Amino acid sequence: MAVKAARLADALEEGVRVFLAAGEQNLGDLEMQIERESRELMRLAAEKGAQKKVDSTPPVCPVCGKPLSRVTGDHARSFECKFGSLTIKRSRGYCKRCRKWRFPADTALGLAETAGYSPRVQEMAALLASKMPVSEASAVLEHLTGVKLPPATLDREARRQGERARKVRRQEDERACQASPKPVQPELVLEPYQMIIQLDAWNIRERDEWGRTGALRKLGQEPERWHWVYTGTCFRLDQRGKTAGGRPVISERGFVATREGIEGLREQLHAEALRRGLGQAAGVLVIGDGAVWIWRLADDRFKEARQRLDFYHAVQHLAAVGRALFGEDQAKLKSWLRPLAHQLKHQSSVKVVAQLEEILAQLPAGAAAQAVEKEVHYFQEHQDRMDYRTARRRGEPIGSGAIESTCRQTQCRFKRPGQYWSRQGDEALLCLETFWRNGRWHLLFPHNRKVDLSKN
Ligand SMILES: [Zn+2]
Repeated sequence: MAVKAARLADALEEGVRVFLAAGEQNLGDLEMQIERESRELMRLAAEKGAQKKVDSTPPVCPVCGKPLSRVTGDHARSFECKFGSLTIKRSRGYCKRCRKWRFPADTALGLAETAGYSPRVQEMAALLASKMPVSEASAVLEHLTGVKLPPATLDREARRQGERARKVRRQEDERACQASPKPVQPELVLEPYQMIIQLDAWNIRERDEWGRTGALRKLGQEPERWHWVYTGTCFRLDQRGKTAGGRPVISERGFVATREGIEGLREQLHAEALRRGLGQAAGVLVIGDGAVWIWRLADDRFKEARQRLDFYHAVQHLAAVGRALFGEDQAKLKSWLRPLAHQLKHQSSVKVVAQLEEILAQLPAGAAAQAVEKEVHYFQEHQDRMDYRTARRRGEPIGSGAIESTCRQTQCRFKRPGQYWSRQGDEALLCLETFWRNGRWHLLFPHNRKVDLSKN
């Protein structure tokens, strides 16, 4: 190593001389050259270190801890690491309790749940695949790091990591639910705070029945379908602030996105809310659009919570009344809508609903009356969820903008044209995405435990 390091130092200095002589090169050229030159030394250091770790790993079963029998050595395994291909020789033994052959060193190195990639490369595949299509991810990875992973391999590795992430999530969620302090002890909380929960859903295109496209088309069915992704976010109201430009920001918030239906969301969101301080909250507020499942979930899981209809959605329903009354006359519609929306926001929903009922009473029977009647029912149903004046007085959000903007970001990844997902595959990738967003990436890849660069 020392000899190679000395040789590298010489090569690097020589590189600098070449760099200075070549007038058209900028620092980028030098950076690339240093990277190229040092790669082999780093690879060697990693390989030596890995082999030493292997040699010091005791021959016990990594699953149950029982000493292995029939141990033999020198079983070679090659895998890709950040600096290139490594080969190690490790021992194998039989665990009588598990009745399985074991390679304890694979677990010690973090190679147990991979097709042949080091933990750092596993992480790269997982992160990139959750952010962009795999063909792009493969090219970006090679361009930025020199690690070569063909798209199909990268996809497989990312999904494997995603499946692992789902297991970790289940364990974490169970732990969160068990650890919840009951009963709540408000005297332990310095400042009482409200917990805000926002819910939303969007759908992704998916192909259910691979290989049956032709057969299905003959039957007049399209093989692709849209499937719902349920999402939620939760945060403490006292952690919501504003940027200098007036844009609302939330310093810490939990995010959940799942393909496992409303029940999946309910359980995952509950665990997330507990991790974010639900147990100590003085009150809970659920905000969403008018979708029925949102209020059912709230009644079911967050019984004590207040409920609020997203203000923007309420205004859209007011506008629907306006269109029924004024048709395409935009000017009339606007001058009718503006004061009403203002009243809804700053005064009381009771007055607004009363006005709508009065309008309906005066309309002759017909299409317009039918349309208005539908909206009146909507407002009657949600009347108690439209306390926008109180919301503003308490500094609470009147809409579900935080979850909607997160959905838009995530949708970009999952809604690219020509992409089809399987339910399993989506859930694995969504799971990776939530670990990243929630700042818990290090739970999947513990080598990040000191520097967690993932952000909320
Ligand atoms: Zn065992």
